[in-house]
Amino acid sequence: MNPALDPDVCWKAVLSRDASLDGEFVFAVRSTGVYCRPSCPARHPLRRNVQFYATVGEAEQAGFRACLRCKPNQPQMRHPQSDLVAGLCRYIEAHAPDNLSLQKLSEQSGLSPTHLLRTFRAVTGLTPKQYHTACRMKNFKGLLRKGVRVTDAIYDAGFGSSSRLYENAGKMGLTPSEIRSGGANTWIYYTTTTTDLGLMLVAGTDRGLCAVELGETTEPLVKALAEQYPNASLRPLQEPYPESFRRWIDTLQMQAKGLAPRKQLPLDIQVSEFQMRVYQHLRTIPVGKTQTYGEVAAAIGQPQASRAVGHACATNPVALTVPCHRVVLSNGEAGGYRWSEERKRKLLELEQKPAKTAASR
Ligand SMILES: [Zn+2]
Repeated sequence: MNPALDPDVCWKAVLSRDASLDGEFVFAVRSTGVYCRPSCPARHPLRRNVQFYATVGEAEQAGFRACLRCKPNQPQMRHPQSDLVAGLCRYIEAHAPDNLSLQKLSEQSGLSPTHLLRTFRAVTGLTPKQYHTACRMKNFKGLLRKGVRVTDAIYDAGFGSSSRLYENAGKMGLTPSEIRSGGANTWIYYTTTTTDLGLMLVAGTDRGLCAVELGETTEPLVKALAEQYPNASLRPLQEPYPESFRRWIDTLQMQAKGLAPRKQLPLDIQVSEFQMRVYQHLRTIPVGKTQTYGEVAAAIGQPQASRAVGHACATNPVALTVPCHRVVLSNGEAGGYRWSEERKRKLLELEQKPAKTAASR
């Protein structure tokens, strides 16, 4: 390989399909045996399969053949509007976190939406939207590498919600676990907050809540979290919290006062299929109502399984949001609670209150 070629610079040009470097070098793909111009519209190969050559001749000598799409061995046919498209690409890069509609890009470029779409695709091989998403994904990965929290990086890169990131991740060659792990283990964010029921630890991934624990002091709660998720990287969150985390805390605070949540919070818990069925059923028991272990077992279609239901309640990783406190003994007593029976009785009392007030009117 030509020592004058900086592989990092070349690879960057390939990833951005930088047509201005066409003719300066070609890149060859070991897995396919093909070599291309930097601006080739074909899907990008893996970096480890790529090598760079200063000239077409060198690539051919090394046994590679010319790509049929970008035709690197033929004279360059510059698209008449490639400068305009290059300008648009820079504009999209600079405004990647923003909403960029086709209409907006059309105004920016002075081309009609249809014409813009056709021209952009002809030059880059991508639609403006695909290019925009690729820019965001690149920024997102950059933020992760800098150590920015996943939840923050999702917003900062302009994805708005994690579901939109996941939608795009597959197309961009990034697996959900890669996103979640950021190259290492799962990241779990947590904080503690004071509630009417004592101290509450709230922990979650970028997908949902993974632990809600009640206690008196921070240390044992964090220790329990670490034991529950031994492979995760735990990150304490400081205020101001990311928006989604703020909403989770607000909702859990309401629930600790015995009020019904406006919306069920998303969960990211590692439990058995049976536990999940129990938890999903528990979420349908309204505030102010209770069921016995036997009733829950019958409701999920396994009337013999009341002991297993008891076990599922006792191992509930997410207090309040999965209301295992609404499962009581058949003799009317509150029964056990993972976070103390006293708390369970208090919580049931709080949940009775709004109902009582309504009844006495
Ligand atoms: Zn090509």
